[in-house]
Amino acid sequence: MLVLVLNSGSSSLKYSVRRLDSGNPGTGGQEIARGAIERIGEDEVADHTVALELVAEELAGSLGNRQLGAVGHRVVHGGGRFTGPVLIDIEITRALELLNPLAPLHNPPAVLCIRAATRAWPNVPQVAVFDTSFHRTLPEHTWRYALPDGLYRRHGIRRYGFHGISVEYVGRRAAGLLGVPWANFDGVIAHLGNGASATAVRGGRSVDTSMGFTPLEGLMMGTRSGDVDPGVLVFLLRQGYSADELDNLLNRDSGLKAVAGHNDMRAITDAAAAGDEEAELALEMAAHRLARYIGGYHVACGGAKAVVLTGGIGENSAPFRAKVLGKLEPLGIRADPDANEAAGGTEEARSVSAPDSAIPVLVVPTDEQAAIAEATAAVVRAR
Ligand code: AMP
Repeated sequence: MLVLVLNSGSSSLKYSVRRLDSGNPGTGGQEIARGAIERIGEDEVADHTVALELVAEELAGSLGNRQLGAVGHRVVHGGGRFTGPVLIDIEITRALELLNPLAPLHNPPAVLCIRAATRAWPNVPQVAVFDTSFHRTLPEHTWRYALPDGLYRRHGIRRYGFHGISVEYVGRRAAGLLGVPWANFDGVIAHLGNGASATAVRGGRSVDTSMGFTPLEGLMMGTRSGDVDPGVLVFLLRQGYSADELDNLLNRDSGLKAVAGHNDMRAITDAAAAGDEEAELALEMAAHRLARYIGGYHVACGGAKAVVLTGGIGENSAPFRAKVLGKLEPLGIRADPDANEAAGGTEEARSVSAPDSAIPVLVVPTDEQAAIAEATAAVVRAR
């Protein structure tokens, strides 16, 4: 089956076409085409509808007369309703649209893509795969905020968690590497990209995660603040900040960018190595906060048997990993400096901890497109 995976960001649309055979389940299939439309919202590509039309044109060229068997859409926020991948129809599309306010940067482009893809390939089944659904197993004491219950009942204000597609994918790979059945895997998984989160996994299920109602809570990220005292927002509202200004401040002008001046981890570690104090401070803050979450989640998962790192930073930034692992020494975790420095950039999963480390630390490259393709094919086959 040929599966087209669509992954829409706020200003980009990435696609991947994969051939999945029932003979090799779990691999994500073989990629036969990929591409991306960037800078959506600027002059040439007005919105995600136009972007999808461009993708359809590109595919008409590269696929020739081969037919798509399914389209899988990454949808960031599944709200309280969507606890697993779902076959899309008109009612589901409307229900997804109702979730737009919960993830204003991410969900509206996905809904535009779903509508445009339904027009482009009216007879091809479409599936939505959610970043939130791996966290459906969060127990109530971790998904509840200590806020009046009416806010949850009226507005759905609770912790949902994100990055679930990636976390489950790398978690299963890590369990395989360790020779542990996924259903027995206890560990802490950190997805560290421009967005970053940590998740406590117990018995292959998410039991706590650092992102909450929106992908803003938790770790310090590229341009997002992560945890701040909510009192800061109340204070700024009283100073006359508008909702849009606060949104911009917290989502686009905070995090590494606010402290180091920009959000590219490689440039920040280079600058810190050359003695730039702001870059050093940004690294120290990000590593301290991550180490604190990992320590907390070691407890939350009942004693982690592994720490797993993924995402652009987790996979590629040896200096950042070294800093974080150094802070985990009180847990008996020891880095292997040579293994940590060894070049990444491959699909291989590998250990970066020393043989005498209390628990292994693994770097496992993520592949969200492969995971979405698998989930999409499974829904379509089960139809
Ligand atoms: P992602 O959102 O997963 O694509 O990750 C983006 C982040 O990964 C950015 O902060 C990049 O600076 C960082 N990153 C990507 N490649 C490298 C690398 N080779 N070394 C350090 N950081 C990297």
